[in-house]
Amino acid sequence: MDLQYEFPPQHQAGKECYNFPTEIERSLTSVFAPRNILVVGAGIAGISCALSLAKELTPFVPDLQITIFERHDILSTSGGAINLTPVAQRHLDRLGVLAELDKMGTEGGTDVEAIELFSSRSGRQLGSIDFTDHHGNGFGGYKGRRVMRIILSVAMIAVVERTKNIRIVFGKKLIRGEETEDHALLHFHDGTSATGDLVLGCDGVHSATRSRWVSPEHPSEYTGISFLQTVIDTRSIQSPIHFHSTSMNISRHGSLLASYCDREHDQIFLAAIVQFPESNLPHCKIENGQDWVTQHRIKNSLQEEMQSRFGKSAIPCIREMTSKPADWMLYPVYQVRPGARWHTDRALLLGDAAHAMPPRDESAAYALDDSILFSRILAKHRHEPLPVAFKAYEDLRRKTVNSAFKASRRMWEKNRDMGYLEGRLKEWTLPLYIRNHREEREAAWEFDATQITIPMPAEGGSLYSYGNSDCS
Ligand SMILES: Cc1cc2nc3c(=O)[nH]c(=O)nc-3n(C[C@H](O)[C@H](O)[C@H](O)COP(=O)(O)OP(=O)(O)OC[C@H]3O[C@@H](n4cnc5c(N)ncnc54)[C@H](O)[C@@H]3O)c2cc1C
Repeated sequence: MDLQYEFPPQHQAGKECYNFPTEIERSLTSVFAPRNILVVGAGIAGISCALSLAKELTPFVPDLQITIFERHDILSTSGGAINLTPVAQRHLDRLGVLAELDKMGTEGGTDVEAIELFSSRSGRQLGSIDFTDHHGNGFGGYKGRRVMRIILSVAMIAVVERTKNIRIVFGKKLIRGEETEDHALLHFHDGTSATGDLVLGCDGVHSATRSRWVSPEHPSEYTGISFLQTVIDTRSIQSPIHFHSTSMNISRHGSLLASYCDREHDQIFLAAIVQFPESNLPHCKIENGQDWVTQHRIKNSLQEEMQSRFGKSAIPCIREMTSKPADWMLYPVYQVRPGARWHTDRALLLGDAAHAMPPRDESAAYALDDSILFSRILAKHRHEPLPVAFKAYEDLRRKTVNSAFKASRRMWEKNRDMGYLEGRLKEWTLPLYIRNHREEREAAWEFDATQITIPMPAEGGSLYSYGNSDCS
């Protein structure tokens, strides 16, 4: 039995205190604690999970090796910008990612103090979602931040590169997974495979880990809503800009997000959130290898779509932004309905792979919460077989995620096309909705996955381990 295990006299993270292990406990830890962890997907969930597992487990498993398999050969420049809530920023700070973003200068993203809401029809301000309290301070010290997705990926990978027991392998698209009593096995499209003790499926909404292994009966489904996105040069706009850092411009034909995405405010990220029929999606997708004429036709038709929806806005800069030729791209939004199985005996789904919901600026924070909570739980249950940690994680997480999904769905409905009267009603009721949910929002931003109490392994939990120790 492998006894290469060093136990720190005290481990203060999460205010936990560990007793010095007995000889039996030493050997049990080495039996159950995973040493070779395979992560599928180098997105927010995959990288944050690898970083937080390295932090939580390395003190107990010094020979820990984490490998992240990413299907892309290189980082994708598509995807536009993402808003990080105070919760997401706090987690990224602790993982060392914010420091990397800050080193990048203007590209590291812009502070978002509030998302200002406007009526596109009248130009009137309808309210704001504030990322600061009444004194102008961020929640837990953090405001919002809008940053290009590719820049966030670069910052996360920079932290991975200096973490000695994590490596990323690009160009590895998972096509299938399987497990035996002792190991999990991943098969990639290039014919190669990888073996490990634990698999974390962090491969996003269309997760192969979910659809081809853990929960095949739960496919992703189109929400009926898509994002039409582009980035424009601020200097190309002559009309006065009506927002400080981020605006959401509401109309009965969908909402248009207009936000700076760099510290110097040189660039504006535009994303229209609109109802878009599923049958039209194949005709509007820009893909690698498409000929120039097809791409030109798609871009023109998306431009016309934007003009028809926002071209008559009462806000001059919105009219101007949506009438200029730009590289509009369509991003259909998919979801995974609650109820998917989250784990087998050796594989667990995290982030969008488990619970993709219509985005409302908070989904990245859910992926980060997942990673941090699971890492803490696994470290605490390291004396138990993996399913014990999986169950403890699911018990803690399922309810929160299900109610977040419901809330996202309700908000999402407001983006579908509506008639004149319904549109006016939306304008009247939105300020009330924003005000009434303020406390709930702010409480969510105070939530800290690094601080909440992780239930102790049940009495007798280690007896389960003792009873099974001969399986070594
Ligand atoms: C249009 C849009 C706008 C959004 N805006 C926001 C926002 O402003 N704020 C916010 O908080 N959230 C936002 N979200 C949600 C947020 O992007 C996701 O919740 C978050 O990215 C989830 O992270 P993830 O790591 O689980 O998945 P992803 O970010 O999707 O990462 C999955 C990774 O797995 C890789 N992968 C996929 N399949 C395979 C495979 N078979 N083998 C190997 N690798 C694979 C992918 O290439 C990718 O790198 C938005 C979502 C959409 C669709």
